[in-house]
Amino acid sequence: MTEQHSSALAGRERIRPDRPEWAAGDIPPHRRPLPLITRDALTVPTARPTHDRLAALDEQRHVGTWSPEVARLRERGAAIRRETLPDLEKCLRQLTGNVERNGGVVHRAATPADARAVIERIARENGVRLAVKSKSMATEEIHLNSHLTAHGIEVVETDLGEYIVQLADERPSHIVAPALHKSRQDVADLFGQLAGDEVSGDPDELAAFARTRLRADFKAAGMGISGVNFAAADTGTLAIVTNEGNADMVTSQPRIHVAVMTVEKVIPRFADLGVLIPLLCDAATKQRVSVYQTLVNGPRQEGETDGPEQLHLVILDNGRTKALGTPQEEVLACIRCGNCQIACPVYRTVGGGHPYSAVYGGPIGAVLSPLLGEPGKDSDLPFLSSLCGACYDACPVKIPIPDLLVNLRAEHERARPDARTARAGWRAWSLAWRTGTGFRATLAAARLAGRLLPERLLARLPGPGRGWAGGRALPPLREAGAFRRWFHGRDRRQG
Ligand code: SF4
Repeated sequence: MTEQHSSALAGRERIRPDRPEWAAGDIPPHRRPLPLITRDALTVPTARPTHDRLAALDEQRHVGTWSPEVARLRERGAAIRRETLPDLEKCLRQLTGNVERNGGVVHRAATPADARAVIERIARENGVRLAVKSKSMATEEIHLNSHLTAHGIEVVETDLGEYIVQLADERPSHIVAPALHKSRQDVADLFGQLAGDEVSGDPDELAAFARTRLRADFKAAGMGISGVNFAAADTGTLAIVTNEGNADMVTSQPRIHVAVMTVEKVIPRFADLGVLIPLLCDAATKQRVSVYQTLVNGPRQEGETDGPEQLHLVILDNGRTKALGTPQEEVLACIRCGNCQIACPVYRTVGGGHPYSAVYGGPIGAVLSPLLGEPGKDSDLPFLSSLCGACYDACPVKIPIPDLLVNLRAEHERARPDARTARAGWRAWSLAWRTGTGFRATLAAARLAGRLLPERLLARLPGPGRGWAGGRALPPLREAGAFRRWFHGRDRRQG
């Protein structure tokens, strides 16, 4: 079999059905203002079913509740994930030494462009035309698929959810459940277009359809690309957690295995996997342990019957080490379970992660994305939160996401060109509301404005208020203070 064409994609361009703009595979460099994106997201018909699925999942999994056994793991896991942060570089050096001792090659990439260039070079030097890939958010972050495809290297996603979003030419809408926004019928329609025939919506048949097509690609591919859930510094072991076994195929069938990890995935000891894997599985899917845990200890050794001839580990920074030593370094403890996304009422209401317009959606995306890439990019994402704290309760490694969001909001405000004017406005508001008289006076002024000015004019606030009003519906100002009036009237009525 040659490496010329993927069977799973049937040698065709990806299917490009109608899809919302914000779900597109590539995020435009200059996205629309966040309030406009989220306003549109709230009105698309696809958001509602996704919202219902997410709400059901939340209820079913009791997100944010921990059994005594898992609560103990949570304490231990939170401590382990912070052990490497005071000297991350030392841990990465130890990991590098051990991976090399095991026969692997380690590449450090400061930026996504560096990581893409390394992987493309490895593929070129080895004449690779087809690569199979298991789920990896790091490769989403560096937009690897579109880069390799543009350079003549076909990439096939082999995780079922990733395969679905690849066919739909979309981005994952959740860290661990990339096709969460798709119904069974959506998937059947997509597969039907690929097969040129009707495909049933039966889950077993859908899985069998994908399995049959992917199997040929596992055999034909010259390169397997995987992510890394945890990398043990003391042994150089790369741990990959899946439920479909596709990572075993990706890391053992092709001649070359390229594993892509971000700097914070390093853990101190191999033994820590005994805590972190069950903790990840409990938070991500409410399993005691995933169906497969793939442990990679270098390329194929003499006498072994399978495994790649070459193992390359690409370690990506992309701005993360800048957070070390700052309050934001807490985000580097994340184990990418996606639990905070399910718990988040905002994420659920906008129907998944696409409207965040960043690679990582939901609360974790709102704190991680502003760290990555150019300064200032995605700095508005932290405002997409009600700060209710559900994400903290759901986090298996106790990342104080609401605190980090508040820090990022403060940074964003400080960096605004009109920061002084905005501060003066907030200060005036704060002074006015410190007294009952001031508070009542602002309510009376709002009521008066509501009576005198037409609604259309009020919706077009001047100056900095314009951006705010552009993405929100102004409450009826005539009603300002209605609750207080009702409340005081109730006191009088009750005597
Ligand atoms: S922040 Fe916590 S809950 Fe969210 S993905 Fe990371 S580990 Fe999971």
